Amino acid sequence: MDVNSHAEELASDLGVDKAEVKADLENLLEYSVPIDEAKQSVRRERGGGGSSPTPESVDLAGITTDHGNVTVTGRVLTRGTRTIRYQGDDLTIHEGEFADGTGTISYTAWQDFGFEPDDSLTVGNAGVREWDGEPELNLNESTTVAIADESVAVDHEVGGDRPLVDLSAGDRGRNVAVRVLEAEDKTISGRDGETEIREGVVGDGTAKLPFTDWDPRPALDPGADLRIEDVYVREFRGVPSINLTEFTTVTPLSDPVDVVADAPRVDVAEAVASGGMFDVEVLGNVLELRDGSGLIERCPECGRVVQNEQCRSHGEVDGEDDLRVKAILDDGTGTVTVVLDDELTAAVYGGGLDDALSAATDAMDKDVVAKDIADSLVGGAYRVRGSLSVDEYGATLNATAFEPADDAPAEGARAALAEVRE
Ligand SMILES: [Zn+2]
Repeated sequence: MDVNSHAEELASDLGVDKAEVKADLENLLEYSVPIDEAKQSVRRERGGGGSSPTPESVDLAGITTDHGNVTVTGRVLTRGTRTIRYQGDDLTIHEGEFADGTGTISYTAWQDFGFEPDDSLTVGNAGVREWDGEPELNLNESTTVAIADESVAVDHEVGGDRPLVDLSAGDRGRNVAVRVLEAEDKTISGRDGETEIREGVVGDGTAKLPFTDWDPRPALDPGADLRIEDVYVREFRGVPSINLTEFTTVTPLSDPVDVVADAPRVDVAEAVASGGMFDVEVLGNVLELRDGSGLIERCPECGRVVQNEQCRSHGEVDGEDDLRVKAILDDGTGTVTVVLDDELTAAVYGGGLDDALSAATDAMDKDVVAKDIADSLVGGAYRVRGSLSVDEYGATLNATAFEPADDAPAEGARAALAEVRE
């Protein structure tokens, strides 16, 4: 059967004009919609028996979470693909952003409507749902997608290319040009049991970010310069993380990618406002040590710090000794809790776990270790490198390097320190 015959059949079934039905069908077929789906779509649109009138057409900027269903005309900026588990089934969905002259909106398409970035579309009967406090369009089986009569003018860049510094959690369908800086294979317990993944760090001229490849590719090897298309970004350990899926494409670049040399120096206030930053440097003064510094005990099951042999998750446990520092650092713009692991703690303490344990035994007091460390750190200016994350309890900087600073401490921090010491 050709389009003509399909159109004739439909037009006769629905009692509508054949030329209109044929135009509808051709429109859908142009988007590689299979003929059966295209016919169903036309049936729904034209033969609905008046049960669901076409919802009002709205500008993207005018859409609120109070809208039920809408019709919009916009341009496709980005389109990402991934598989999600939904009610026990793996579904391939498309996500990205539409724009018109008034603004942008995120969308999730629960089936493949065949559109691509740069296409101008009229999307009929799209559902509006709230996602992360913002309205988002849901394109489902009741939604129709057709080429718009005219190209939609937008102020936004079409396509997903972004520098790393502009990526944030929730981004979909992004493309990056990066150098792989670190990579290692891992086995994790995922929703389908043991899963092989590759984790690491990539960089470009603007920033470095961690990545996870859920379909581990050997091409993501340290030193490789790559264009990576169709990634999504989510927050992991408080910072944006790039996720590669089976739909992501990786292409070697012939030109080397310049990577930011060192961790960029940031103000605490700036890093907190951004909601978390990977591999940055903060310069400030240590105001005091927090509880849970020095000689501590961790749950052997989950690694959480235990107090009075009680783990929050595992009840009474036989804790394992460890060293840690939680220091409050002030740079004049704000404060951050700097966390030093066992190695960095040993370096500032000037001894390892065994030294700490014998000091505690000699003094018959575990706290001597924290007191010793506080004596050497509090009041000093330090340069701290690590990833800064923010949660309801404040900002935390998990240090990868911690060194005395030659730079003059910030004025504000000095003032704060003076207050603390009074
Ligand atoms: Zn535990």
